[in-house]
Amino acid sequence: MRPTWAAISLEALKENYSEIKRNLTAGTQLMAVIKANAYGHGAVECARALETIGADWFGVALIEEGIELRKAGISKPVFCLGGFWQGQAATAVESGLTPALFRIDSAQELNTIAGEAGRTLDYHLKVDTGMGRLGVPVSELREFARRLQEFKNIRLDGVLTHFADADSDGGNYTARQVSDFEVALRILNDLGYSPYWKHAANSAGIHAHSDSHFNLARAGATLYGLTRDVLARRPDPFALSPVMSLHSKIIMLKSVPDGTPLGYGRSFITKRASRIATIPIGYADGLRRGLSNNGQVIVCGRIAEIVGRVSMDLTIVDVTDIPQAEIGSEVVLIGTQGSSRIMAEDMAERIGTISYEIVTGIGSRVPRIYSSP
Ligand SMILES: *Cc1c(COP(=O)(O)O)cnc(C)c1O
Repeated sequence: MRPTWAAISLEALKENYSEIKRNLTAGTQLMAVIKANAYGHGAVECARALETIGADWFGVALIEEGIELRKAGISKPVFCLGGFWQGQAATAVESGLTPALFRIDSAQELNTIAGEAGRTLDYHLKVDTGMGRLGVPVSELREFARRLQEFKNIRLDGVLTHFADADSDGGNYTARQVSDFEVALRILNDLGYSPYWKHAANSAGIHAHSDSHFNLARAGATLYGLTRDVLARRPDPFALSPVMSLHSKIIMLKSVPDGTPLGYGRSFITKRASRIATIPIGYADGLRRGLSNNGQVIVCGRIAEIVGRVSMDLTIVDVTDIPQAEIGSEVVLIGTQGSSRIMAEDMAERIGTISYEIVTGIGSRVPRIYSSP
């Protein structure tokens, strides 16, 4: 096997879940958001581990992701944040998934399919309070909810909204979203609906806006221990640990003279006699090309610079100042070794993105190695 892998700590995942839950308003349940293959961590393995500690809900983006969980035997409620595509209603019903709903045509489809199956299907109505993406605008909610009353085979069991800016340090915008969400809940109440589930908070909302917890909150990033570019700076984040670390090994080591070009485009030329290591990981694995001449790794507990361009399968590292480095030495790209640490947030910052994109981008050909659940 190629010596490149992502280590996933299911212990850290479970501890993070429990820690986030401890910080919720009493009585609030916690949805573990495991869309996009659990942000690159492996949806089935993460769901199984979280089910053992009694996770309340799972959240996915797609019906396909929900089906994957059901096939793996996950029995807890699964919420599909993005609703479903035309033609998927039957699968949603069969698999017992709970979809978000925000379009009349999907309500109609769901109603017909549920009727044919002789079932009543629960859904959660998504309200747009300021994200401007999915969801019924609050101004159109009354009319929309009236039209929903004609569908007798589906039941409005929850209402949700999504925050646009809960990680900003101001917080006024989120406060406004919360109060608009409360307006939406009153509108639905007026029309005779009594949805049980009410949810708004993502990781940043959970952390900075305790008045947004309602009776269900949805955590993604913090579940995986991502914090610095996820949460507002205040209050201090809960005690969370990164779940993923990324590793490889030196497979080639050479001494080259001053003035040696390295990698595609000769974008790096040594300025001294150097020891240069090659590691078998590249942008096809999610080690972003923007880290060319711009990234760092850890070798023998010490920071080493990425030199030259990151290529598809291989990357070059300058280990001149790390004489202990040898063929087979482990290289940590994300994680801790000795007293050195590189977090997904650090890698993200270097290339102007967020840690979410780093972890979800770790390629499918990087095996995930799980610590026992
Ligand atoms: C992805 C997602 C979440 C989780 O967001 P985090 O910032 O990762 O906690 C919550 N709600 C919705 C609707 C989402 O799409």
